Amino acid sequence: MSLTVSVGDLTIHRIIEQETTFLPALDMLPTLTPELLAENRTWLRQAAALDATDLLILCFQSYVVKTPHHTILVDSCIGNDKPRPNRPKWNMKTDGLFMQGLAAAGVSVADIDYVMCTHLHVDHVGWNTRLENGRWVPSFPNARYVFAKGEFDYWTAQNAKTEVPPFVDSVLPVVAADRAEIVSHDFAIGDHVRILPTPGHTPGHVAFTFGKGKDDAVFSGDLVHSPLQARYPELSMKFDVDQATAATTRRAFLERYCDTDTVCCTAHFPSPSAGRIKRWGNGFACEAVAG
Ligand SMILES: [Zn+2]
Repeated sequence: MSLTVSVGDLTIHRIIEQETTFLPALDMLPTLTPELLAENRTWLRQAAALDATDLLILCFQSYVVKTPHHTILVDSCIGNDKPRPNRPKWNMKTDGLFMQGLAAAGVSVADIDYVMCTHLHVDHVGWNTRLENGRWVPSFPNARYVFAKGEFDYWTAQNAKTEVPPFVDSVLPVVAADRAEIVSHDFAIGDHVRILPTPGHTPGHVAFTFGKGKDDAVFSGDLVHSPLQARYPELSMKFDVDQATAATTRRAFLERYCDTDTVCCTAHFPSPSAGRIKRWGNGFACEAVAG
């Protein structure tokens, strides 16, 4: 399995932390019917997106993107040593897979110039910080961390009502260390990196587009979780904060990139996770690109 894609003047590495069963398809996608699942079971299993008991299989990963000017981490996955009692596979884990993945991509923590989070959910901020002498410190000592303002403000308000552990242990320490850039939608890094607002999964969710003068690659975060939702964009998932907006955003995003050369790097599709968007009936497929 190739973990590297080259497109335009970008080199993109996948850093996989886990690829595993997540939730029953019928639970995660509340409007999915048993009949529609049955119609799609064969190809989903062939794509390793569904297991034999109808659990959806998701990949949990980050992407490292090398532009001619910068090395950028898109989303920071699950992290170690973090109390996540509701998710046994993530709770207080101590494995070396993420750091081994970085090393395999030829990157050290000191090489990362920017960490960019599509949104601030638990599996997208985890490696923002690591535990050092009982304190959470930024994992990437030379990086600026980019958070969209709408997203940061939303979680600031949520956390004021009820403590949001991943915000407290993986976002606020970055702010305290003066490493955060809370940015609006016109933020860009040079002529290679831009923001595409994609609300719905969370109110301030954004995608990131990379490439000089055109979108060679786009990082879609959690605007779509499973290839089944590409096929049927109206299927929102139960953790989408605004399910109707999420569905509208999902279809508009897939339509925008359908039959273009842009490589869509999904956060959670099973390996190889990245591909070009093609039309499939009234929906879409993500056609794998060879590394
Ligand atoms: Zn996610």
